[in-house]
Amino acid sequence: MYNAKAFSAASASSPLASTTIARRDPTETDVQIEILFCGICHSDLHQARNEWSGALPTVYPCVPGHEIVGRVTKTGSAVKKFKTGDVVAVGCMVDSDGTCEECKAGFEQFCHNMTLTYNFPDKHTGGVTYGGYSDSVVVDERFVLKVPSNLDPAGAAPLLCAGITTYSPMHHWGVTKGKKVGIVGLGGLGHMGVKFAHALGAHVVLFTTSPNKKDDALRLRADEVVISRNADEMAKHAGSFDFILDAVSADHDINAYLGLLRRDGNLCLVGAPEKPLSVSAFNLLFGRRSLSGSPIGGIAETQEMLDFCGKHNITADIEKIPIQKVNDAYERLLKQDVKYRFVIDMASLKGGA
Ligand code: NAP
Ligand code: ZN
Repeated sequence: MYNAKAFSAASASSPLASTTIARRDPTETDVQIEILFCGICHSDLHQARNEWSGALPTVYPCVPGHEIVGRVTKTGSAVKKFKTGDVVAVGCMVDSDGTCEECKAGFEQFCHNMTLTYNFPDKHTGGVTYGGYSDSVVVDERFVLKVPSNLDPAGAAPLLCAGITTYSPMHHWGVTKGKKVGIVGLGGLGHMGVKFAHALGAHVVLFTTSPNKKDDALRLRADEVVISRNADEMAKHAGSFDFILDAVSADHDINAYLGLLRRDGNLCLVGAPEKPLSVSAFNLLFGRRSLSGSPIGGIAETQEMLDFCGKHNITADIEKIPIQKVNDAYERLLKQDVKYRFVIDMASLKGGA
């Protein structure tokens, strides 16, 4: 074991603060990574504050962070894909059994023995996993991704969660040219959703509660922007969408969006609000509409997404912050004051924090 610098939350109500954590020494299949950048996902905030106490209760101290880009500093003797100096990435998972039906099909995210990057039982240390708000991490090479060399490493970090979480359901639900696609919420996930839906050739409509984001949404290549609090603007789109991706982090009325789907249309939830959502059965019955959800994506699909981003030159729109500003960043997330992903520059952790 060795000591790594990190930022952790000590309880649901305490701000994140500087700490030291123990990381394992690399095993023969492990890659040790110096973390250069880590995105701030709204899930980090939900988890640090124990807002998912029912499904994923938080174990403290909690070191969040699952949008990691860094440089390889050491490789185990059996590592084949990576060498010292490579720019690599780690997303929301760091392990799975590799033998079950889901793993064999490339769906590690559904493996019953999958390990999330933070706040999950750590098979190596016996404690919980610690995430990317840290100066280094050790991960089995199966869960390490290659970052295309033309992408800015800081802008690429959010692809590891916000990117794959929006890319994967669009593929699953067949977003292509000619489809009308709605994206709900212009945050970290939503802005990646707009970029991907546009790159896949769809007609993209962005729904926002923030009128001041309209120009940005158009710049990000939404074809239309709807202010969702305006009932008349919403009504114009009734029964017209093939697919809607809901990336909202807080309580909201999804019935307003179900009614906008055409026959056999699908509304896919990627947002994970603290409180349960309610659904009117009639919004599903009429039009044989469906409601689905989607968590992140498999490892092969994550690499496919990164390569797609390399080919189309897609990265997140980011605001780089020093780690000492992480608590301010959380407050700004709650005020919808982020354009459109905070990314921690981990050089700021080196000075002693
Ligand atoms: P974010 O950057 O904070 O964006 C959330 C957006 O939701 C806001 O920008 C805002 O968009 C909208 N919103 C916020 N409060 C709202 C309210 N009261 N009513 C309506 N709209 C509201 O968050 P994020 O990082 O993109 O994450 C979004 C959600 O996805 C979170 O719940 C997160 O935990 C979840 N998530 C899920 C997965 C998964 O695997 N499924 C992965 C990552 C994250 P406008 O200002 O445009 O309205
Ligand atoms: Zn995330």
